Amino acid sequence: MIRSPLSRLALFALAAALAAPVLAQEKVLNIYSARHYQTDEALYGDFTKATGIRINRVDTDDAGVVNRLKSEGAASPADVVLLVDAARLWRAEVDGLFQPVRSKVLEERIPAQFRSRDEGQGSAWFGFSTRARMIVYDKSRVKASDVDQYEKLALPVNKGLVCTRSGSHPYNLSLFGAMLEHLGPQKTEAWLQGVVANMARAPKGGDTDQIRAVASGECGVALTNSYYFARLMRSKKPEDRDLVEKVGVIFPNQADRGTHVNVAGAAVARHAKHREAAVQFLEYLSGAQAQEYFANGNNEWPVVPDTALGNPALKALGSFKSETVPISVVGMNQTRVQQILDRVGYK
Ligand code: FE
Repeated sequence: MIRSPLSRLALFALAAALAAPVLAQEKVLNIYSARHYQTDEALYGDFTKATGIRINRVDTDDAGVVNRLKSEGAASPADVVLLVDAARLWRAEVDGLFQPVRSKVLEERIPAQFRSRDEGQGSAWFGFSTRARMIVYDKSRVKASDVDQYEKLALPVNKGLVCTRSGSHPYNLSLFGAMLEHLGPQKTEAWLQGVVANMARAPKGGDTDQIRAVASGECGVALTNSYYFARLMRSKKPEDRDLVEKVGVIFPNQADRGTHVNVAGAAVARHAKHREAAVQFLEYLSGAQAQEYFANGNNEWPVVPDTALGNPALKALGSFKSETVPISVVGMNQTRVQQILDRVGYK
């Protein structure tokens, strides 16, 4: 069709001119993620579909993400960092692994309580989903009214009944950090001393293990993040749903300040090479579709108010009052909490 060598050459030049900027602009985003839930796959896929930005992902646990960022330093290819728990987000912020972000979209959608403190340049990280720290108890030998406040875990009536995972686990550091804010240092220390004195066994295992131990009778009362409980509620295995039947579950402190809630969150990495795409991704996470994925995929509550909930387990757990202490303060208190834990011998 192209007859003259000249026009063939012209066409070649045109094609080259078009191709060059396309290559230079190939849009990618590198994410280091400590989330690994199957539904998150759809989350990433939809972002690429909507924006044309290809996502490269490094999946590891929270400590793995943080160690990798630290060892890579300024050479790190990470653009976005996803971590769970305020204690970890705060630690990574203090270690200088994030950069502040100013975004109207994020500030409008995410309540200030669930973002890191804005020192004038924006927030260093944003919570995108929330989880409650709940109390589960053995309905056959513990009265709900004896365990409906975190404070009551230290009551003499609960002697020999209390089980938790390690006190130094971020989920507990954050809860205790919130308690420190509410009760002050002296009462928090006395409370933690009481909790240690009431333990049925030395702290061990994860949150699901605590639920199992309550169901088996080894423990009378325990702490768990809400999504572990919701996961058992939705499990296809009858033995998991049996566990749920056996134990009572409580949103603590409903009559006063509300239940402790934590976040899973994201940040733009300090040395991000694709900053604009990174901010775009964070904004995408605050959108209705992504917020629904969080709720349905990992049984967490969306951080954006009024997101539709299609998750039967979350619906069954119902609505509850959550504490309003800023999650950044909770993270910040963890160093003091750890000192108290060492003093009272909470392993
Ligand atoms: Fe977890």
